[in-house]
Amino acid sequence: MKVLKFGGSSVASAENIDKVVAIVKEKSEEGKLAVFVSALRGITDKLIAAGKMAAQGNEDYKDVLNEIENRHLAEVRKLIPIANQSAVLSQVKKLLNELESTCEGVFLIGELSSKTLDRIMSKGELLSSFIIAERMKSEGVNVSLKDTRELIKTDSNFGKAAVDFETTNLRCWQYFNQASDVTVLPGFVATNENGETTTLGRGGSDYSAAIVAGAINAEVLEIWTDVSGMMTADPRVVSQAYPIERISYGEAFELSHFGAKVIYPPTIQPVLEKRIPVWVKNTFAPDDAGTLIHENGNGNDTMVKGISSINKIALMSLEGSGMVGVPGFSKRLFEALAREAVNVILITQSSSEHSICVAINEADIIKAKTAIDSEFAFEISVKKVDPVMIERELSIVALIGDKMKNHAGVSGKMFSALGKNGINIRAIAQGSSEKNISTVINEKDVKKGLNVLHEEFFEKPIKQLNLFITGVGNVGSKLLDQIKKQQRFLSEELRLNVRVVGLANSKKMAFNDEGICLESWKEQLEGGEPMTLTSFAKHAKAKNMRNSVFVDNSASEDVAMIYNDYLKSSISVVTCNKIAAASAYQNYRSLKRAAMDHNVSFLFETNVGAGLPIIGTLNDMVRSGDRIRKIEAVLSGSLNFIFNNFKTGVSFEEIVRQAQTEGYTEPDPRIDLTGTDVKRKILILIRESGVAMEMDDINSDPFMPADCLEGSVDNFFEKLKEHKQVFDDLYTEASAKGEKLKFVATYDNGKASVGLKSVAPEHPLYKLDGKDNIVLFTTDRYPDQPLIVKGAGAGADVTASGIFADIIKTVL
Ligand code: ADP
Ligand code: ASP
Ligand code: MG
Repeated sequence: MKVLKFGGSSVASAENIDKVVAIVKEKSEEGKLAVFVSALRGITDKLIAAGKMAAQGNEDYKDVLNEIENRHLAEVRKLIPIANQSAVLSQVKKLLNELESTCEGVFLIGELSSKTLDRIMSKGELLSSFIIAERMKSEGVNVSLKDTRELIKTDSNFGKAAVDFETTNLRCWQYFNQASDVTVLPGFVATNENGETTTLGRGGSDYSAAIVAGAINAEVLEIWTDVSGMMTADPRVVSQAYPIERISYGEAFELSHFGAKVIYPPTIQPVLEKRIPVWVKNTFAPDDAGTLIHENGNGNDTMVKGISSINKIALMSLEGSGMVGVPGFSKRLFEALAREAVNVILITQSSSEHSICVAINEADIIKAKTAIDSEFAFEISVKKVDPVMIERELSIVALIGDKMKNHAGVSGKMFSALGKNGINIRAIAQGSSEKNISTVINEKDVKKGLNVLHEEFFEKPIKQLNLFITGVGNVGSKLLDQIKKQQRFLSEELRLNVRVVGLANSKKMAFNDEGICLESWKEQLEGGEPMTLTSFAKHAKAKNMRNSVFVDNSASEDVAMIYNDYLKSSISVVTCNKIAAASAYQNYRSLKRAAMDHNVSFLFETNVGAGLPIIGTLNDMVRSGDRIRKIEAVLSGSLNFIFNNFKTGVSFEEIVRQAQTEGYTEPDPRIDLTGTDVKRKILILIRESGVAMEMDDINSDPFMPADCLEGSVDNFFEKLKEHKQVFDDLYTEASAKGEKLKFVATYDNGKASVGLKSVAPEHPLYKLDGKDNIVLFTTDRYPDQPLIVKGAGAGADVTASGIFADIIKTVL
């Protein structure tokens, strides 16, 4: 005989019930069936709500009863042929009338005992089983309806009654010995020794089916639900979760006990004792394989089978010097909790015995605290023990798997994956069986935590990279373009799923957790919300997604000011904006430290030489123990343009004007010509070499007469004209020696300067075209011939690609 159980969603509507009937018909050809059903989806919740409203004197309970009535009557009308409808309707109405009378009684006395609530709740399954059995009859199935309350006997712990297996097993055995082909039974319900209705706990229909399967030694128990098996994680939270093929009883128990709602935890025990295989199957996709729960996993099992979580957890810690080495403390603690029926979900005790920490349901906090404070009142009064400390809004996240015990480093991997994503672990417990490693984390981090762990243990090596990008000008739009083109390669070759979750320009911002479509980002941005830097950051932080990166494509000081806020929220920062890295040394350091403390990256390769690998090369040298002795560099595209084109026959004023018109310089070319930008760049290189330096420590050799710096831009050009000779002399002096003028930044032996230099042909700086930048590193390991990085040092495309490379570095 097989035992089948169909859950609430499987019987939610007439359409679904017909799917159930089809499965039952097919299965019944192979042998006899006991078919347990839950109440129609949502009905148990409604019944409880009606009972509670009635007890509070709220007449609206009648509306809820009406809803319940209408839903059932509508199903009967759809499912039962007209000829039989009136008989079925009258039986359904009889059950509904009983329900109404009970609720009326509750309303009149203003009280709802757990015994009465059980009577009320039982109506859900009594109604559904009756209607479904009638539908099967009308479909020609040889079916009988059996009231489970005559079979399963329990104690009087209403709401979650304990089964009297001896009596139950006997009754089941006798009944099913001569049952018809198909027996339909209500799940969830039972009776105590006085014949009063009890229930087995929320979700208990699974248990009802398992109890009967165990009692009659069924060949198999099949739990039919709305997902294709027990999954690697709750599919509502982890979209990448997938069904587990096979799982041991122990693993299934742990998974369900730690929150995998798909099976009610006590279900495992009766089938485990008799080694009855359990299948979890999908009513809506009956051909999907489903999950087999059985004695042993198979040889190919993964070491972690599933991840689950329980929310609304509180941690209670008892601490004090008086506990050390004194036997009986834990016994008293747990007895005090047991007396108040507080369920302890997880326990940790430090090996110094200085503290014991237990996780309980938040709902039990008051009971638990009172019980413990009174149990240890004396010890607390003499300060041997501190009053109980309680933390709330926590969750337990657990890894489950029989094979974890044979693998080193599972917990290490778990903790580091959580840590890398800024998820703080409040407590840890690992049973000695090592079937389960549990961590207590903040409830707000659960979704992120489950996804991080799922990625780490099941999806590897596909990683999600979640980007929040500000600035969609020249560089920003090129970056989006590059990401779009490269997405496929990254996912196939690097197993990296890069998605732009947030995007903003100075006016608007748009978000999409699944990734903004990069074909139509402009339209999405246009239709977005008004942008402010704080609200963009607020969104990014609230999303609390793993592997998040904030990308700054702007040159704005305001944006640079909020990097710290991102880093502290475990969001990496990638930027082409030089302001932060060239700000006060203290600020630069604190950003680097914040990144380190929160296990994220602060990357700004494009601050110097756009996409050229300058900072990365420097970092590699320094990290591997090299020491930077000297840096010589030409780092300004605008100054290169000017000095490459300044020759005999052209005045300096003309060439600067041309550079300005063609957009090679800032609107006020003095910003370039005074070398401020170059100073920032060399400063960043010096700092990355490990030297603490400020902007003011860099010497700059002005090559322009002082009055050029005064007044307006027009005045500046006037002055350039006036001083024509000064510039011509600079040029002729250099070219007389066969040399060229270059604006060079130098760092040598702790000293830095920027200024115009005359460079001889044999010098590597001599031959430098167009927008090229060049950096020469003389180091302990490159003492004679410097290491040289050279190439285009400006342009939206190369800058975007440098940013892109930094983005990828945050997760590699
Ligand atoms: P039923 O009404 O059939 O008893 P439940 O709602 O009690 O169904 O349980 C099935 C639901 O459990 C699924 O729809 C899914 O959302 C949830 N669930 C949580 N964790 C898991 C998991 N690890 N595997 C499968 N389902 C899970
Ligand atoms: N109907 C009950 C509940 O919702 C039992 C079950 O569905 O398993 O808790
Ligand atoms: Mg269920």
